[in-house]
Amino acid sequence: MKEFSLTLGTNNAKKRRELERLLAPYPVALRSLSEIPNSIEVEETGGTFEENAILKAREQALHLGCWVLGEDSGISVEALDGAPGVYSARFSGPGATDASNNALLLERLDGVPPRERTAWYTCHMALSDPEGNIHINCQDRCYGQILTKEIGSGGFGYDPMFLLPEYNMTFGELGDTVKSVLSHRARANRKFVPQLLSLIAGLE
Ligand code: IMP
Repeated sequence: MKEFSLTLGTNNAKKRRELERLLAPYPVALRSLSEIPNSIEVEETGGTFEENAILKAREQALHLGCWVLGEDSGISVEALDGAPGVYSARFSGPGATDASNNALLLERLDGVPPRERTAWYTCHMALSDPEGNIHINCQDRCYGQILTKEIGSGGFGYDPMFLLPEYNMTFGELGDTVKSVLSHRARANRKFVPQLLSLIAGLE
């Protein structure tokens, strides 16, 4: 099978590393936006992960004239009616960092008992061809619970507060190998890859 050239439509270096790791076993030549000087910043104006993933894939693909994988992800907390959701990266406002977002989430959940701290990560993946047509559109989730403090330094973003009940450890503690099997990104990727492989086979 010939190598398929795919551009990852993200500037988030940690997200990019995870996607590169997940796609490494397949005949895909990946490049990321940081390697492309004329890429554009796509505004995430959608109200859902799906809308934003499609926007990131389609607009970048049309601009660059190549196949683009758009990925949109975030965390939703049941006690906060699904917030921060699509606003996960910008939860604490302009200039938000992982640290300020995590601090705000802990503050919002202050006093909420453990059984009511259910949360889930969502990852949506959309693949656009150079003409802006979406060929693959898939999503999956990973369920857990938000702790009252951060534990561990692995992963990124909300990971040190996100407990996986079946391991009784956070993604911050579990490390990349376990995360690359259990995470929302890993789960969405397991739906994405078979569709990508049949698409590549059909192009040959
Ligand atoms: P996006 O770049 O708009 O998709 O925003 C993704 C945001 O969701 C990140 O900045 C994190 O705040 C959060 N997020 C998504 N995936 C993860 C993950 O795997 N671990 C921790 N935080 C994540």
